[in-house]
Amino acid sequence: MPAFITSVWNSISLAGTETAHTKREKNIITLLNKAWFIVMVIQFCCLASHIIHGLHRSAVMTAEFLLCFGLLHLLMRKGRVNTFKLAAILVINGNILAMAYLLGEQTRTINFLLLTAIMPLYLFETRQRKFTFIGIALSVLPYAFYHYTTFYTQAFALPLAEQMNMFNSTTWEIVLCLLTLLFLVYHKNAIYEEETLEKEKQLMDQKKLYECILEQIPVDIITFDKQLRYTYVNSSAIKNAEVRKWMIGKRNEDFFKKYGLDLKIAEGRDRILREAMLQEGKREFEEAFTDKRGQVKHSLKGASPVFSEDGKDLLCLIGYSMDITDIKEAEQKQKTYAQELERKNEDLQHFVNATSHDLKSPLRTIASYLQLLERKNKQLLDEDSLSLISTTIKSVKHLNQLISDIYQYSVADRQDAPEDTADLNEVLHSILTQMSDTISAKNAFINYPPLPVLRMAPSHVGLIFSNLLNNALKYCISSPPSVAVNCAEDEVSYTLSISDNGIGIPPQYHLQIFEIFKRLHHSGEYDGTGVGLAICKKIVESYGGRIWVESEADKGSVFYIHLPKAMVSLTTNRISQHPIFAIAG
Ligand code: ADP
Repeated sequence: MPAFITSVWNSISLAGTETAHTKREKNIITLLNKAWFIVMVIQFCCLASHIIHGLHRSAVMTAEFLLCFGLLHLLMRKGRVNTFKLAAILVINGNILAMAYLLGEQTRTINFLLLTAIMPLYLFETRQRKFTFIGIALSVLPYAFYHYTTFYTQAFALPLAEQMNMFNSTTWEIVLCLLTLLFLVYHKNAIYEEETLEKEKQLMDQKKLYECILEQIPVDIITFDKQLRYTYVNSSAIKNAEVRKWMIGKRNEDFFKKYGLDLKIAEGRDRILREAMLQEGKREFEEAFTDKRGQVKHSLKGASPVFSEDGKDLLCLIGYSMDITDIKEAEQKQKTYAQELERKNEDLQHFVNATSHDLKSPLRTIASYLQLLERKNKQLLDEDSLSLISTTIKSVKHLNQLISDIYQYSVADRQDAPEDTADLNEVLHSILTQMSDTISAKNAFINYPPLPVLRMAPSHVGLIFSNLLNNALKYCISSPPSVAVNCAEDEVSYTLSISDNGIGIPPQYHLQIFEIFKRLHHSGEYDGTGVGLAICKKIVESYGGRIWVESEADKGSVFYIHLPKAMVSLTTNRISQHPIFAIAG
């Protein structure tokens, strides 16, 4: 008897470890595993008891059971594979068959035992119907086999007296075993109940926490089931608690009908929810909705499905909505402002173009008439008058230059063809050619290595070089001026530098000199308009770069231009083949 009980428990507990799905099933299985171990120990005691009482055939039978359980244990451990489970059922059935033959006619209970052997299948394999069916078939076969062969095998049966002896010698072990099991079941269940209560409390607390979070966030949140019925609505979505309660179990359509809202919007929302469900992913869309007061409200809505841990079952759909009316209005305002600004900029540009043209032509006339006057009356006019005329001509030229510079400044950051490329060597060469008179007059020395080809407008590079090189020659009293142009490159940027051996700039003016009209000297000392460096700054910044100077009074200056490659680098950069240039005046 203990062997049968053990056999059944054994198979239940071991079969279950692999197939248990719920926490409760797992707990029961752990308990049965412990019980199995105790019963095995008692079985050994029974074996010893049979040997002591001289019940040798019973002892052989018990030993056979023990061996059989060992095998069963091994097979069920591999229970993840169905073949092993079937093999385990065969072992149980073989065990019962052997026992039936040994106990002979006394064991009419075999019918019951055969059925109990099927129990594990019902208990833990109900999810696999095919497997259950095969298991039952395998359990019925030995039953039939026994009934057909029992007549021929009666000789194997143990004598009735020995069977009774065996029963008597092991009764107390069975009782002990059952009591132990009952205690274990009771004890484990008490623990289990406690654990369950504790877990339920934790779950409730967690649910409360999540609900609080959902209530606090300023986003409308609604969850839906597979049939697109509301399962949860937070207070941000619907303020009124009564309405929220009413909504549970209803659909978008019901809600829109009840409040007389546009049903097309409800259909649209349902469509998006269905799409999210089918595509198994998040869907987002913007919705314009006219409320009861006739105000158009814009919202960003989204739907995302939530799946079970194994990703097979759709648990719910989360729908969220954020009011973006303010953002939309701000965007619209920004667009209007941008258009307005663009229009004003265009007007301003027209104005600058017109004024520079209108101012320059009379100035040119004044300058040429004054020069004519000076030439024609050189003999008639005294020294003072001639000096006055010459100063006026200078001022007019200065004014003319100023107008040109202001015009350049106003268009400095314009990029008409953003994909322009500038070979810095070519640009520099042409600027130096334009400056050749000054270079010769000053006996200047200008040095530059091969420079890169950049994605910049050549006119911009020309303005930068011409302003910085002219300054380098202009603000130099030591003779001869020596200027070096260089270009350093790293992974993300180019840094151009133009260094001179001129008068230098005291550190306190290093920032100010880049402001428009800021000059450190008056026109009598050094000619200029104070616009050149401001033009350079504007151009460099339009390429996302930076310009700065490092200098000290009387120690020369180095102007640096840092240009990010992301803005100026060509996709395939050409390395210029120009040799190192040294131009001497
Ligand atoms: P401008 O040269 O027409 O006066 P800039 O904007 O080019 O105007 O320069 C602003 C001021 O910065 C100049 O007036 C000068 O004082 C100073 N500066 C510019 N470049 C140099 C230089 N290479 N060496 C010394 N001072 C310079």
